[in-house]
Amino acid sequence: MNVDVDGRVRLVMESALTARDRVGVQDFVLLENYNSEAAFIENLRRRFKENLIYTYIGSVLVSVNPYKELEIYSKQQMERYRGVSFYEISPHIYSVSDNTYRAMKTSRKDQCILISGESGAGKTEASKKILLYYAVTCPTNDRMAALGDRLLQSNPVLEAFGNAKTLRNDNSSRFGKYMDVQFDFRGVPVGGHILNYLLEKSRVVHQNPGERNFHIFYQLLNGGDEMLLKTLYLEKNPHNYNYLAKGNCPRVSSINDKNDWKVVMKALSVIGFTEEEVQKLLSIISGVLHLGNIQFGEGEEGETYITTETQIANLTELLGVDGSALTEALTHKKLTAKGEEMISPLNFEQAMSARDALAKAVYGRTFNWLVEKINQSLALKEEIYHSSKSSSVIGLLDIYGFEVLQHNSFEQFCINYCNEKLQQLFIELTLRSEQEEYETEGIAWETVQYFDNKIICDLIEEKHKGIISILDEECLRPGETGDLSFLEKLEDTLGGHPHFVTHKLANGKTRRVMSREEFRLLHYAGEVNYNVKGFVDKNNDLLNRNLKEVMCQSDNQILSHCFHREEVMDQKRPEMAATQFKNSLMKLMEILMSKEPSYVRCIKPNDAKQPGRFDEVLVRHQVKYLGLMENLRVRRAGFAYRRHFEAFLQRYKPLCPETWPNWHGRLADGVSTLINHLGYKPEEYKLGRSKIFIRFPKTLFTTEDALEA
Ligand code: ATP
Ligand code: MG
Repeated sequence: MNVDVDGRVRLVMESALTARDRVGVQDFVLLENYNSEAAFIENLRRRFKENLIYTYIGSVLVSVNPYKELEIYSKQQMERYRGVSFYEISPHIYSVSDNTYRAMKTSRKDQCILISGESGAGKTEASKKILLYYAVTCPTNDRMAALGDRLLQSNPVLEAFGNAKTLRNDNSSRFGKYMDVQFDFRGVPVGGHILNYLLEKSRVVHQNPGERNFHIFYQLLNGGDEMLLKTLYLEKNPHNYNYLAKGNCPRVSSINDKNDWKVVMKALSVIGFTEEEVQKLLSIISGVLHLGNIQFGEGEEGETYITTETQIANLTELLGVDGSALTEALTHKKLTAKGEEMISPLNFEQAMSARDALAKAVYGRTFNWLVEKINQSLALKEEIYHSSKSSSVIGLLDIYGFEVLQHNSFEQFCINYCNEKLQQLFIELTLRSEQEEYETEGIAWETVQYFDNKIICDLIEEKHKGIISILDEECLRPGETGDLSFLEKLEDTLGGHPHFVTHKLANGKTRRVMSREEFRLLHYAGEVNYNVKGFVDKNNDLLNRNLKEVMCQSDNQILSHCFHREEVMDQKRPEMAATQFKNSLMKLMEILMSKEPSYVRCIKPNDAKQPGRFDEVLVRHQVKYLGLMENLRVRRAGFAYRRHFEAFLQRYKPLCPETWPNWHGRLADGVSTLINHLGYKPEEYKLGRSKIFIRFPKTLFTTEDALEA
């Protein structure tokens, strides 16, 4: 057995005892003690220490972030994985990429790769590696050569505008992303499409200590040349901008904003943004910074006025709006009562939040516009579409993992809800595919016990009585105490639900003390307390009508595209934030259900972003809420190991004189002859129509060791 420390495992099974002791097993199903979490973590730890960051649970890839560059992603490595099956080679993200690609090509069925894990676990890096693998290894024709580039270049652009430095990750994605790559019948990538989910807009106006705003702001200030900054009325120092100063962390050692700026500008041009569009985009980005510097004063009668006239002058130009209309709209609100329009002044607080709401809306909508533009550039061109009727798709999902912070708010509620949905899908699809495999192979299906989290999904999303409905209701018919009346309504409706707890309902009986502003959900992954403060506002996500009016008259085409006239005219209330998110998740679930899934489960080994450190407590948590033990149980419920007759025979035929050097009869008979010779007992295996199923890893190890001898 030859196992290289740098991750190149040359043989199929790390079965020789010495190697197994040192580097663990490369597939968890081969663990003797598959019910033991300790054994699971020990296996991860051993491999991690040997820089073997990838391990399988059947076909699910578990990946541990090495926090250092490993020499396992080169072009040569890609070549090694090309056209090679899972079990023939050591676990790798390239193997998942390649197997998915081949499954798509041979079965013509759409595929998807779902990447999950907590912040900093390596999801985005994994998705970039998959994309790079396709860009490098897939066949291409001249016309499509540029598509690979555009697909790859969409990453730096979206990261600049949608990622930020947080305490957990220097390059944390603050939006969810699902990307389809389309291939024609020859396997040439011919198009792409991105769906984005719930950008964390609150970051535009506020950052916690030690965190930053979105990268693009710092890139612009550091990388933009003097001329450019002058035309945008900007100064280099981020401290001069309220929206950048809150986290008090303008520089990050792992980030080179100046360089990244160049990369992003280049990427924008590769994708096909015109110079004019880039100019307009930068005007908006700097406009957001200027908005943040608008200050208000309070008059004697309590009226609010703007004290920073130059900011308004700058904004007039940068956002292409009418200065006095903007001033008016930042300090007054327009209401329609009984068909009549009324103007009412905003107080100091209201004016501040109107300003922030505008900044968030402008940034959020500009981000959507960016995605739209990228999609146009990646779109499957009409003529190719018609000539490649049988095109198939591989979808990549890189979406926020389960999140438990010190203080959890509306954003964490949405993120964790999303993870409940993904877990539901995971259970359904894993069980379904297991069941289907047993059926097609003609083997009796054995029922597997698992926790069905439908009860929690219902608790959140059910019509009329789910948390989202109750929150919407509170936004439409607000009680006197805002967020607290929302909490009361929750208690009235959901009291007694086994997965819902509040201070009042718990009667002081909860293990962890809860404040009176919190509710607790018992998620499949664990308990999370949510503070209701801000839920109503964030769900409303309101922008005063007169501010919308100002924006839709902008002569910056991006802004006038983002703020539609119809929206201002339409009196109907738009869907609220949580409901919008719920609906977009429903659509996502439909998309994913129609595809064959592969999974990459990412784990963060420590909180210090350090190489070589494996914090067992932290890892255990993640193993739990990624549901990995459950996953392993499902996979092991019946048979630990399965292989096509041909592959099995090919590998083990030297162990039997009748099958060596070649077996000429039916494959199933060859396998029977072989295992009879090896002395497999009937309870150890089953023969399906095309595969052998082996119940215990030990059986296989013994066979594997015999091969070594
Ligand atoms: P978030 O949910 O915050 O977006 P994430 O799961 O997308 O987190 P990444 O941004 O992919 O996390 O990874 C965080 C950092 O960890 C990367 O910037 C990189 O430094 C390091 N990292 C992740 N995966 C790898 C890898 N395979 N090899 C080397 N470094 C890695
Ligand atoms: Mg990410």
